[in-house]
Amino acid sequence: MAEAKATPRSPIESGCPDGFRNMHPVMRKNYGNWDYHEDPQPGVLKHVAHGGDVIYTVKAATQRILDVFTLRTLCDIGDKYADGHVHFTLRSNLEFFVDKEERVQPLIDAITEAGFVVGGTKNSVTAMSHTQGWLHCDIPGTDASGVVKAMMDELIDEFKNWNMPNRVHMTTSCCQINCGGQGDIAINVQHTKPPKINHDLVANVCERPSVVARCPVAAIRPAMVNGKPSLEVDEKKCICCGACYPPCPPMQINDAEHTKLAIWVGGNHSNARGKPSFQKLVAAGIPNNPPRWPEATAIVKKILHTYKEDAKDWERISDWIDRIGWPRFFELTGLPFTKFHIDNWRGARNSLNASAHIRF
Ligand code: SF4
Ligand code: SF4
Repeated sequence: MAEAKATPRSPIESGCPDGFRNMHPVMRKNYGNWDYHEDPQPGVLKHVAHGGDVIYTVKAATQRILDVFTLRTLCDIGDKYADGHVHFTLRSNLEFFVDKEERVQPLIDAITEAGFVVGGTKNSVTAMSHTQGWLHCDIPGTDASGVVKAMMDELIDEFKNWNMPNRVHMTTSCCQINCGGQGDIAINVQHTKPPKINHDLVANVCERPSVVARCPVAAIRPAMVNGKPSLEVDEKKCICCGACYPPCPPMQINDAEHTKLAIWVGGNHSNARGKPSFQKLVAAGIPNNPPRWPEATAIVKKILHTYKEDAKDWERISDWIDRIGWPRFFELTGLPFTKFHIDNWRGARNSLNASAHIRF
């Protein structure tokens, strides 16, 4: 692999980089002119253009957080077997592109030999998309890449094979408010107690009006504590969302005991066949238990197993639940239905946009 240039190019500070610059020549030539695609084997896509040109995509999973050695290994495979044409997907899969069928198997062999897994296409569980976690972000309540690695280690057969009723997109999110995890199955942080305020630091660290304005349920008020300007929280109103913590770290909400994970199912961003759907909570209060998160993984596997057994061909998880109904979902999965599953918060009806259609 080529070493970095002594004088790097000027960074592009605004706008999207030109997507055509690094595109495979066959893709550039046939942009907007594809006829159909096929799935020759798990992890491989074949796209055929109207003029007869063909491009093969080989998809491999990564663990998302990549050290330089691993990244160079993957790029070397790309240089040697795919003329350097690779790109990352938003789910941290790496896609390699070749334009001849005979180049597909040597590429798969090289990827597999280097310890990576090919798969994640068609009716498989593709790699989980996740937020930044402890590595990059300053407000997470858990790791995100770690949860992905631990869970995907146990779902390797579902990644490598076409053995699900339809595609399964899973997500994780390490706080409740920002990047957001919505998918067929989502594993999201759940704070279960209001923030604990360090009053000695608030005046020095926090811009109090911004913090007050952040709270979605108006639970924060300015207050004087021990003669210093600070804040107070009406704990009866607080919904433990964690939105006050980013602008004001002294409002500590992460907690080894009370920060939990929750599992949601049935979310769908696309509006291909119907309106996008919000996911629904199905399991809450799950221990946030690194490094392998066994409790959350067991529930995810149970949901996937039940979906695999009961869904009809090509039903997504949300279609399956729409058909069988939520009572049957809880019955089949054996997950307990409790009072915490009942969403009695009405604010969303006025303020949240539940469709992808643009409103003016
Ligand atoms: S989900 Fe929240 S904690 Fe995680 S990376 Fe995004 S903003 Fe940070
Ligand atoms: S956790 Fe959320 S609801 Fe509670 S005080 Fe902070 S911003 Fe308000």
